[in-house]
Formats: sequence, C-alpha cells, structure tokens
Amino acid sequence: MPAKKTTEIARRGLMLVISSPSGAGKSTISRALMEADPSLGMSVSVTTRQRRPSEIAGRHYHFISVREFERLRDSDALLEWAEVHGNFYGTPREPVEVAMAAGRDMLFDIDWQGAHQLQEKMAADVVSIFVLPPTMTELQSRLHRRAEDTEEVIRTRLINSRSEIGHWREYDYVIVNEDLDTAFDAVHSVVKAERLRRDRRHGLFDFVRHLLEEEPEL
Ligand code: 5GP
Repeated sequence: MPAKKTTEIARRGLMLVISSPSGAGKSTISRALMEADPSLGMSVSVTTRQRRPSEIAGRHYHFISVREFERLRDSDALLEWAEVHGNFYGTPREPVEVAMAAGRDMLFDIDWQGAHQLQEKMAADVVSIFVLPPTMTELQSRLHRRAEDTEEVIRTRLINSRSEIGHWREYDYVIVNEDLDTAFDAVHSVVKAERLRRDRRHGLFDFVRHLLEEEPEL
C-alpha cells in the first residue's frame, strides 16, 4: 500500500485558546482565522450577559438566564466556566468532545480563568495565545470605537484589563496586536506549526511504516 498523502495523516484535534483584555482585537483575529481556515470550529459559549446589537444568538453566544446557566454548570454540561465583568460565561462540553473525537480543531475565545481550566484538564490538546494591545491608550480608544457598550461597561472593562494582562505568562504564545494583519499572520503561523507537532500526529506511525516499506528500484 502506498504511503498516505501527508495532508491525510491522522492527528488529534487542537484546542486553540485565545485570550486578551476586551478591545485588544482577539475577536477580530478569531474571525479572520475562521475565514482563512474553514476546518476550524468555533466554540460558542453560553453567557448571562445582555446581547450586543451586532451579536447573533447561537452564533456569537448562546444568551441564557442565570438560572439556566446554573443548571448547565451543576449538571457538568460546561467544560469550564467563569464570572467575567459581572456576567457568567461557559463552554458547552458536548460540541468540544465531538470535535476532539473527530480530530477537528477548535477555537476558544475565553478569559484567563477558562484558559487555566482547559490547560488543567486537557493540557496535551491546548495551545494558548494571549493577545496584548500595543498601548493602554489604544485599548481604550478601541473600546470606544466599538461603541457597543455603555461608558460604565467600558470603564469596568478597562479597569479589569490590567488584571487580565497580568496573566500573560500563563500562555504558550504572546502576540502584540499593533497591526491587525501582522497579528493575524502570527496567530495563523502558530496554528500551522502546532498542527505539525509530532506528538499530535498519531497517524505518523503508519505513515513512516509504509514509507519504509516502499523500496524503489535502484
Ligand atoms: P465579551 O462580553 O466581551 O463577549 O467577553 C468578555 C470576556 O469573557 C472575554 O475575555 C471573553 O474571552 C470571555 N469569555 C467569553 N466566553 C467565555 C467562556 O465560555 N468562558 C470563559 N472563561 N470566558 C469567556
């Protein structure tokens, strides 16, 4: 049997975790990544926060009540959860388990608390990236430019961004988003390189065995 094409070599799904303070550009980078790489699935979190006008229920988040959140959390239906800026957020367990079992990669836009929980539970599959803003002034103006939150909410997010940034050392990769295209290229390179890691590619055993069975005539 000829060796498989290298693109077909089976490997474990990758859990790509991206965190940043609000306004550092993580959502824009995530969106660009999904467009560039349609094989990547996006984990859609549940949240008790109010929907922003531009958000679509079921696509950006599943917007649920605190009661429903507690029910999911207490029945172990969430892979991780956290309280962020006074609202609850959590990752539904089932879609992740289905994707991982099928060897599909998944992207998680979650905070440091969620990243920490996933790193604890699924260390071998998690690749974490922290996105930093170039300056605090730029972070503030991006939050204002987005113009989807009240002044009060923006203030809370700016205050919280300092403690969020304090967790940068807990991530595998750190990217400063000064220019969106450059930051996107950096994240994309991480994904491409991580997919090639030997320890993720269990199909390599068969590939190499078939490779060595082949004996071209001299
Ligand atoms: P936002 O309200 O701006 O959409 O999100 C606020 C923060 O909550 C962001 O840092 C975002 O990454 C984080 N977040 C969103 N979904 C989840 C989740 O399922 N779990 C955790 N731990 N954080 C989340």
